[in-house]
Amino acid sequence: MNTETVPRERIGGGYSRSQRLVETAGVVSFFVVEALMIARLTRVAHAWWLGPVGVCAFVLAALLADLISGLVHWGCDTWGRVETPVLGKAFIRQFREHHVDPDEINRHDFVETNGTNAALAILPLAVTGSLAFDLAHPTVVSWGLQIGGMGTAFFVTFTSQAHKWAHAPSVHPVVAWMQRHGLVLSRAHHDVHHLAPHEHNYAITGGWVDAVLERVGFFRRFEALITKLTGIPPRLHGP
Ligand SMILES: [Zn+2]
Ligand SMILES: [Zn+2]
Repeated sequence: MNTETVPRERIGGGYSRSQRLVETAGVVSFFVVEALMIARLTRVAHAWWLGPVGVCAFVLAALLADLISGLVHWGCDTWGRVETPVLGKAFIRQFREHHVDPDEINRHDFVETNGTNAALAILPLAVTGSLAFDLAHPTVVSWGLQIGGMGTAFFVTFTSQAHKWAHAPSVHPVVAWMQRHGLVLSRAHHDVHHLAPHEHNYAITGGWVDAVLERVGFFRRFEALITKLTGIPPRLHGP
């Protein structure tokens, strides 16, 4: 996409060419590294518990990614400005723009949708790849950490796609089925966040952790604690 031909006004100068390059590199790197790591794990010595432990680790990874999505989203909605160095353009701008124009996300192509998260997912992949893992003698913990780390990277990358589907005017029937059954973020769940002042249901992978976070008032308590420690009040919620 040639950003210089985009006619509409976008917050903070919009989507820059340098960010596009970083995100393209992030998407390519993520898929190459994840594929190589999956290929390596297929050579693991067989054990009956590989399947059940792998499923448990994958589910926990989904919940962890959902929690991370909620924390990052809340952080960008609540603290800092578009002008904040580095973080402002790379993260905060996208969330500000999204409150002002929720449908903008539907105009993002694959790289603009998933690039930032794919680049971030390199971190859990790097940590997972650095962990000791013996293919010939896997243990429950070492196998769980491999699947959990790679699963976290996958769900972090997948988060913006799930968020985009929750805004899409129409989705593939398979995606619609997953949304109805709570396997990805549903429109009904996420619509709650888009009601001003945008201070509920921050999680955007599946929204699975929101029920617990909302019940205990997690984010309001966290904001009060930060304000108490730093003297900095949360910025007004909303655009
Ligand atoms: Zn928001
Ligand atoms: Zn949204």
